[in-house]
Amino acid sequence: MPNKGKNIYELPWRCNNNPQCFLEITRVCKVGCPSCYQKNGFIASRHKPLALIKEEVDIFIAALNPSAICIVGGEPTENPELPQVVKYIKSKNILPVLFTNTFNLNEKILNQLVQNGLAVVYAHIDSQTGQFIKVGATEAYMMEYRNRFVKLLKPYRGKIYGMISAILSDSNYSDATEIQKWAYRNHDVIKYCVFTLDGYKSGTGTKRKALDAEKLMQSVWPKFCLNSCLRGTASNEIHWGQAVTWVDDRGPKFLNYKLVSLLDKTHHIIYRKNTTIIDPKLLKILPGLFTTVFVRPHEQGTIDFCAGCPDQTIIWIKKDEKKYPILVHSCLSQDFILRGYSDEEHELNKTINNLNSRCIAACGYKNKFYSKNLEIIKDWQEALKYPTHY
Ligand code: SF4
Ligand code: SF4
Repeated sequence: MPNKGKNIYELPWRCNNNPQCFLEITRVCKVGCPSCYQKNGFIASRHKPLALIKEEVDIFIAALNPSAICIVGGEPTENPELPQVVKYIKSKNILPVLFTNTFNLNEKILNQLVQNGLAVVYAHIDSQTGQFIKVGATEAYMMEYRNRFVKLLKPYRGKIYGMISAILSDSNYSDATEIQKWAYRNHDVIKYCVFTLDGYKSGTGTKRKALDAEKLMQSVWPKFCLNSCLRGTASNEIHWGQAVTWVDDRGPKFLNYKLVSLLDKTHHIIYRKNTTIIDPKLLKILPGLFTTVFVRPHEQGTIDFCAGCPDQTIIWIKKDEKKYPILVHSCLSQDFILRGYSDEEHELNKTINNLNSRCIAACGYKNKFYSKNLEIIKDWQEALKYPTHY
């Protein structure tokens, strides 16, 4: 099996026991990244109503046992209900994590969100988002915006933490090491670095693998290593590779996979939940923890997802005049959106019928015995007809 020989901890995440999920609260975003699947810029108002958002929070909690709920979009700061969303998630004793391109973020908004319980801010800042402010913006140019983000978070150091993310395509792939260096330098507020290896639109992306990216990092830090992972649902290759590291002012130290396994299992025994390394409670005890992730999404029309996907989102299907929520990988929802919700026969049906219960499931959340009654949706034509309703 590819990559099978590598010493690595296989994360035990499942669709009914997962550290996090994606709560989509809007389709609106004015930035318009080329690789974004939302029809941004064309939708004047496509915010999910607060009542539906709260319902989805309840579904996630019942279905996934999450430690954190990621508030995503579009651009979540466009939805005026964002503070209420943060408050509602916090009231359920779950960590609210905001995913943002940071352009709308300022001291006033952040202060209100922190008061309402915001725990983590995940900033997508790269040369793609940069085109919104300057045509031809490079990763070097975007350092100013990364620094602005750190400056915003500094007053809350120790209370909330930052994650930084970039989509890597051929044009900026080799810049990943500079972004990583920047993140290590700002380790007091930045604790997580996510690189998405763009390959979604077949033939236009880099189609890099997580192990290639590990080698790229090793060109600067020879001991850099991926020590935990999720494999693909079809290929068994590493699709979601994670390097949990210890970073302090002396620089990064790269941890053995056994240590990461011990940390994860201990956390699970204590909290009965899978670890979110970015949890401020955990970081108070272990302040040097720093994680770098390489995500390799499936290519359009293929079935190779991350098994145990931590980014599941909800779509709604209509069946027998009732609407049902279904959990899907958020990258799979791209297929729904880009294909215009067509029910024409395509690879997607085959895809879904081939997936197993680790990846995708019907969500009978009102049934308290949800996890015992996990059911794989077979009739995906229904999902293609009625994917979302807001
Ligand atoms: S910032 Fe995010 S939501 Fe907005 S266009 Fe880019 S990827 Fe899409
Ligand atoms: S949404 Fe897709 S790329 Fe992201 S973790 Fe899930 S399966 Fe992997």
